[in-house]
Amino acid sequence: MNERPIARRLLAWYDRHGRKTLPWKSRRDPYRVWVSEIMLQQTQVATVIPYFRRFIARFPDVRTLARAKADAVLHLWTGLGYYARARNLHRAAKIIVREHDGVFPRVFEAVADLPGIGRSTAGAILALAFGSRHPILDGNVKRVLARYHAIDTPINQRATEERLWKLAERHTPRTRVADYTQAIMDLGATVCTRSRPACDACPLRASCRARHLGAPQDYPVRTASMRTPVKATRMLMIRDDRGRVLLQRRPPAGLWGGLWGFPECADENARQWCRKVLGLDIRIGAPWPKLRHSFSHFHLDITPIPAHVVGGTNHAMENTEAVWYNVRRPDERGFSAPVKRLLEQLRIRESN
Ligand code: SF4
Repeated sequence: MNERPIARRLLAWYDRHGRKTLPWKSRRDPYRVWVSEIMLQQTQVATVIPYFRRFIARFPDVRTLARAKADAVLHLWTGLGYYARARNLHRAAKIIVREHDGVFPRVFEAVADLPGIGRSTAGAILALAFGSRHPILDGNVKRVLARYHAIDTPINQRATEERLWKLAERHTPRTRVADYTQAIMDLGATVCTRSRPACDACPLRASCRARHLGAPQDYPVRTASMRTPVKATRMLMIRDDRGRVLLQRRPPAGLWGGLWGFPECADENARQWCRKVLGLDIRIGAPWPKLRHSFSHFHLDITPIPAHVVGGTNHAMENTEAVWYNVRRPDERGFSAPVKRLLEQLRIRESN
């Protein structure tokens, strides 16, 4: 195995090419570092920047976030995806206020105990905010290390993960930990990218095993069972006589938990399903073209189905949280990206 340490070369590269002007880097405030690290889980920097700015403008510190309503937090997360991150951030803010007197903890175990913060994120926050020496192993770092060392066991195996943690620990330097942490994340995001690694521009190229083997894209190794499956759903866009559309709040846990969305019907007979489940008689229109929404572990194919209530709405949704929503007068609530897009399309059709 290639044992050459990478910190010195990475830091020299970072000094010349690293991204030092990102909005969460202006101050080493653990609150800002924490919010940015949570937003950056599963989401690219360019997408995160405007969300981060809006979020910090509205919730400038942990106490303001802890006092906020869940809908206000989810509203600012709309379109960013992986909404459990927002719910956990909100829960964690309350814990920090209640148990740590509003001061972000500096002890690793206390940070890793907060909702939504695993071992890698805890290490990243402590390294970036306080310069404490903790290894990190997010998706970008896994890819860089798996390629640099040409790890040939599947990335989803526990033994592989343990091996990568040991390597991450070994490569983390004793000084300039914050810069090193940022550097290795930046390298994975901008140079050692998933589909087209720019090896010629990489500071690690001279001793990277995957590059020497001529196949960096073959790493990290994936098994057939890791290929992305496709699921399907049908979203019913039910309008009433006043043009309002029926939205339900999703259960707090799980996919898009706590967000507002259209009723989803797996049943082939949507009219019967509506009568039985929602207590509504509806007339169904021609389905709109399918939308695909991709998550990290599966694709979701959505068929939007327009429908209209026949004979009143008085029995609708007795057992769930629901609203008849006016698309022309949007209020503050959280939506998933596809629901937001469909509501926008309904609004445009309404005004034409
Ligand atoms: S040389 Fe290529 S494969 Fe190796 S770490 Fe750099 S970009 Fe990644």
